[in-house]
Amino acid sequence: ENTRRPLMAGNWKMNLSHREANKLVQDLAFRLNEKQLAEVEVVVLPAFTSIRTVQSAIDGDKFLIGFGAQDISQHTSGAYTGEVSGAMLAGLGCTYAVVGHSERRAYHNEDDALVNAKVKAALANAITPILCVGEGLDIREAGTHVAYTLAQLDGGLAGLNAEQAKKVVIAYEPVWAIGTGKTATPEDAQEVIGAIRVRLGELYDAEVAGAIRILYGGSVKASNAAGIMAKPDIDGALVGGASLDAEEFAGICRFN
Ligand code: PEP
Repeated sequence: ENTRRPLMAGNWKMNLSHREANKLVQDLAFRLNEKQLAEVEVVVLPAFTSIRTVQSAIDGDKFLIGFGAQDISQHTSGAYTGEVSGAMLAGLGCTYAVVGHSERRAYHNEDDALVNAKVKAALANAITPILCVGEGLDIREAGTHVAYTLAQLDGGLAGLNAEQAKKVVIAYEPVWAIGTGKTATPEDAQEVIGAIRVRLGELYDAEVAGAIRILYGGSVKASNAAGIMAKPDIDGALVGGASLDAEEFAGICRFN
């Protein structure tokens, strides 16, 4: 009944020179065979400066690993110094872009309206947005994490029709679990991710809700991936720190 293909996405953040990125993606490809890559979709998200390098490194490889960007401009083109457009990313072969990561929400004041505009910019360029949502520790301790996260979901998807929504990947990343070594328990992750899927059914319909992939992110490692992936509504992981180690990330990709 669940036909969603698992997705493991490695967010390299602001790490790796283009030479190091070249080595890491080759080391990763070396560790994953054709069967594994047919079962699980594997994507890496380098810094902008390494996207071209990663494209070249895996171009023509029979075991294709996907790649994308960690952010995308909401603008199409023009006088936006420092921004990178969806068309530029699509032109390099990016098929994914992270949108609304908690680090961008926190350090670059990205709000739901901007995140929504970036989701639309990605879709307009046939790039799959990985829409990140999730609560901070204060919200978790107040017990309002489900409502908080669903409000971010509503904001990020605002104005999208069912066909567009189906092309989005959602990543639930509780901020208190990111880079802290404090993984949410599989039960904690399933609670919110299950609620996200129910909400998708309300916003659209059961078919759309059943088609959209929802990832968990926050201190995922090879040793905890299987437990997380065993939950019915969790379709993959967005991985930060552990994606910088080829063996560890390959272990996550081979979770079962
Ligand atoms: C992330 O930032 O998307 C993330 C999940 O980081 P980490 O795996 O390092 O917690």
